[in-house]
Amino acid sequence: MLPGSALEFLNWDWSRIESHFRDLRSRNLSGANIAAWLADWSRLKELIEEGQSRLYVAKTLDTADPQREQRYLRYLEEIYTPAEQQDQKLKQKLLASGLEPEGFAIPLRNLRAQSELYRDANLPLLEQEKKLSSDYDRIRGNQTVEWEGEEITISRLFLELEEPDRDRRARAWRLGRARQLQDREALNDLWLRFLDLRSELARNADLAEYRSYRWRQLLRFDYTPDDCRRFHEAIATVVVPAAVNVADRRKRALGISSLRPWDASADKNGREPLRPFVAVQELIDKGSAIFHHVDPVLGRYFDSMQSEKLLDLDNRKGKAPGGYNEPFAAARRPFIFMNAVGTAGDVETLLHEAGHAFHVFESASLPYYPQLQVPMEFAEVASMAMELLASPFLTTDHGGFYTDEQAPRARIDHLERILWFWPSMAVGDAFQHWVYEHPDAARDPANCDRTYAELVGRFMPFIDWSDLAQELRTGWQRVLHFFQVPFYYVEYGLAQLAAVQIWKNALEDQARAVRRYRSALRLGYTVPLAELYQAAGARFAFDPKALGEAVALIESTVERLEQRRGWDSNPR
Ligand SMILES: [Zn+2]
Repeated sequence: MLPGSALEFLNWDWSRIESHFRDLRSRNLSGANIAAWLADWSRLKELIEEGQSRLYVAKTLDTADPQREQRYLRYLEEIYTPAEQQDQKLKQKLLASGLEPEGFAIPLRNLRAQSELYRDANLPLLEQEKKLSSDYDRIRGNQTVEWEGEEITISRLFLELEEPDRDRRARAWRLGRARQLQDREALNDLWLRFLDLRSELARNADLAEYRSYRWRQLLRFDYTPDDCRRFHEAIATVVVPAAVNVADRRKRALGISSLRPWDASADKNGREPLRPFVAVQELIDKGSAIFHHVDPVLGRYFDSMQSEKLLDLDNRKGKAPGGYNEPFAAARRPFIFMNAVGTAGDVETLLHEAGHAFHVFESASLPYYPQLQVPMEFAEVASMAMELLASPFLTTDHGGFYTDEQAPRARIDHLERILWFWPSMAVGDAFQHWVYEHPDAARDPANCDRTYAELVGRFMPFIDWSDLAQELRTGWQRVLHFFQVPFYYVEYGLAQLAAVQIWKNALEDQARAVRRYRSALRLGYTVPLAELYQAAGARFAFDPKALGEAVALIESTVERLEQRRGWDSNPR
């Protein structure tokens, strides 16, 4: 009998787990028993995945505790990696049976691709890749600075970038970047180890280069590297001019002649920064009120996360950087990790991660694990659409964070940052295509520096980097995705586009848009990607037309909010 929870499962040793794999391998599959076999396999797989997730969460909560790290690494070696090997045998068994259980066409396609890519020789490398990711977290997590007599994290320091005093912002920005530059060599070394490991993964799988390997590993059936290039082009044509306009408006309002990197986050009208909450409990309570307005069921999901201790939101020294939502596969529950310090950006992050969390809740009733493995291209729709679906309820009269005065400001910031986001996404995606198209050149970090700077110059010409060459060039070192989850970047750009389409639907009929959103989340990964988008009321698209419509809607809404005409804190 398998244990009822992953916490219990974490006490199991490998031989006990292996006997369950043996049992699954020994059964003869038929139409009559396939459902039961899949259910048993799923249950085992979910426990293995959740075991890893639990230990991963524990270690990112305190990267300074070597025992948490050790526990995680030991699990990878003793349980997770051997399980992958056993799992491959079960995939082959299922595929060889020719059986196609209901709702399983997409999972079978995915399992077939995974099975073809699988090599025994890659197991230790994939494990090593996870260990290198821990090294990256540790380096970034330990970056602190002394600011006004106090030792603080870089996340906390960068709160200063929202202050109206421009000199103060510049000082904070330079201090933070100087601290990050101290780890430049360490990150360059780590980078080489990642690149070498990734070439080897591809070679072992009989592929000429890592991008082909990664494409298959990420199960990207619906678009090619050429589509990504077309998307970058469309962004350059359609979004960059709009992003330049945002920068020009900001410069005019701030009365400055050039926009420096420390001028991007402060209020353009020189007001004190929005500080929507102080204590983390306030973030949770107000977040809850907002989700209840979006949909009472979503509100209850969020409340259950609080009561089940599935939220860890405040910024502390030693916590890994960033924010994420981690599904606990066996419990069918999500966990949200954040580094909240009290900013408007933190509110957006909570809305975002909650969107991911709602995906876990909505798809929880699907019976088999492979149906729950949602493609990232759609997972980010769940999160990014939630940022916009929640936007009518941000005001205090809905129990939210902002006065009627502040809410338009927060919304304008958010929308303008979407226009800056697509170009920065194009930089990040194009950078990675360059890296893996030029694996030898990319082994010299100086080439990465140069390429990154060129791409920033092309897609984000509105930021003035004069006399900041080092800081500009090393920007790629601060993007954890390049190190930890390569090529996981274009998903955000695709999903942002869909999120704006869903928001457009919501402006016409909020209740219907939320209904479609929820029903698409419930599908898990049982229909093709384009159908998931369609179910949510969006179109899976790369083209200038779709981008142009999204940009136009954002621009007209910003204009309306700026004029305060037609601003209505009540949802339509
Ligand atoms: Zn996300």
